[in-house]
Amino acid sequence: MEKNIRCNACARRIKEENGILKEDIFEGKKEWGYFSRLDLKVDTFFLCEDCYEQIVSKFQIPVTRKDKLEVM
Ligand SMILES: [Zn+2]
Repeated sequence: MEKNIRCNACARRIKEENGILKEDIFEGKKEWGYFSRLDLKVDTFFLCEDCYEQIVSKFQIPVTRKDKLEVM
């Protein structure tokens, strides 16, 4: 089954084989709540690794990034 996932930022199709993604992507999901103009809306998007790095590099405060000690 083709999932046909695209990066929302650059529209590039994410590589996959037999329904399994062959590259890691950022998946964003936000259910907006009462204090938001977007109350009751649910946003989702995907970013490829390149777009993710480009976007977070513009942050005033960098992302918190830790080394994973154990791979599950
Ligand atoms: Zn992208």
